[in-house]
Amino acid sequence: MKSCYYWAVEKSQNRNITVFGLGRSGLASVRYLKRLGFDIFVSDSAPKEKVSEAVQAELKKLSVECEFGGHTDQSLAKAQTCIVSPGMAPNLPIIEKARERGIEVISDIEFAARRAEMAKMPIVAVTGTNGKSTTTALISHILQEAGFNAPYCGNIGVPILEVLTQAEEGKKVDFLVAEVSSYQLEYCTNFAPKIGVWLNLTPDHLDWHQGLEPYIKAKQKLFYKQGMSSFAVLNFDDPIVIGTTTMAEIFPFSQKTELEGCIQGAYVSDQFICLRKNMQVHALCRVDQLKIKGAHNVENALAAASCALLLGVDAKIIAKALQSFTALEHRLEFIDTIDGIEFYNDSKATNTESTIKALEAFGNQKVILIAGGKDKGTALGDLATRVRQSTNAVILIGEAAERFNQNFNSMGVQNIHRVATLDAAVKLALDLKSGPVLLSPACASFDMFRDYEERGHVFKNIVRAKQKELASQAK
Ligand code: ADP
Repeated sequence: MKSCYYWAVEKSQNRNITVFGLGRSGLASVRYLKRLGFDIFVSDSAPKEKVSEAVQAELKKLSVECEFGGHTDQSLAKAQTCIVSPGMAPNLPIIEKARERGIEVISDIEFAARRAEMAKMPIVAVTGTNGKSTTTALISHILQEAGFNAPYCGNIGVPILEVLTQAEEGKKVDFLVAEVSSYQLEYCTNFAPKIGVWLNLTPDHLDWHQGLEPYIKAKQKLFYKQGMSSFAVLNFDDPIVIGTTTMAEIFPFSQKTELEGCIQGAYVSDQFICLRKNMQVHALCRVDQLKIKGAHNVENALAAASCALLLGVDAKIIAKALQSFTALEHRLEFIDTIDGIEFYNDSKATNTESTIKALEAFGNQKVILIAGGKDKGTALGDLATRVRQSTNAVILIGEAAERFNQNFNSMGVQNIHRVATLDAAVKLALDLKSGPVLLSPACASFDMFRDYEERGHVFKNIVRAKQKELASQAK
């Protein structure tokens, strides 16, 4: 493998790269490119004081030229390629300027995919508005259970170039299983994964993409460049996903139909998760044998099982792995029971659709919902309808509380409360004592927390502290 990437460095005409944004993926890009001998310039909008001393020291050691506190023309002076952090919208002046000058603007995923192709390392890439992380982790889990080394990476936390580095340094990697966001896809030009998975699409990130159409177009980029030996695993229940155009072989999945008329696909029949391929049907396991809760997770399981089958995993192994997979942190994660009341952390539910799915996962059981945070301004009608059906009480927090309150009120939701902190929300939920307590905010977290992970951790800590406090009082 070594010879392969040294060859690339030697032959590359394109030795000057600017990395925009020093987040996790930006830093991984710098390390990776430096290792390959590229000349790097780093440009970050944050002031220098906000960049940790460890990172600054590392950049110095790597002799990387940097600018902080904004993106100036210097960042484009030598660049032939820019690798852009997913946070940076395409209408930012510096991105527009780079494009006007004919500089290639790509994401770390696009760069990694080119490298992975040279190394003949297949990529399974998962996108969708919701369910990406869960499905990515589940695919990786099934492949690992089948004996492959298939680490998950991308938007899920471990930058793809970090995993690629490990592979190039000798670690065995059979498949890269990557979660890919619409932001990363926006900056892809030739990305063509071995398997592309599209779970669903509902309005989200519309400010960044400047509308729904560009958001859909970004997602479709996963399939544009795929060839005939690739696969597109598509949700045939989703009216937008079903319209995907691709050269790849389509492997559909559906919860609503048994895909009559399709020669292959994944579906639910008599409560069994089934796969059909080469005239054979594999009934894998019952839906209630999955440890992950709710119909949305059945969707994720269908998609993940499809990928594993396409990569040659035995149906029995897929069935077993589906049943041993547990929820990721912050995704309908069970925390504990206090005084007979169950607490769930679904902090990753940052849009209305994911909160609707979380409420649906409780079936007929009514919950106390804790929602609110940084408002995304999307329509609240469907959420309010579901909240009316599925909650005994709603506790609202954060900047969105006022708009949510008005909307829910006008839609006849009963028992709406507003509090200032998560701590107060937990106390109130314990006083109300009317069903399981679900934190599923339907909002981003940035008004009160660094990110959804911090919000989830704070919530779990409060719940666990309360549990301890009540347990010691009971002694
Ligand atoms: P993503 O990485 O796309 O944000 P996650 O797997 O982290 O997706 O799940 C985020 C939230 O979205 C979860 O808390 C859950 O409530 C919801 N969710 C998960 N899978 C789906 C799905 N297939 N359809 C709709 N909502 C989902």
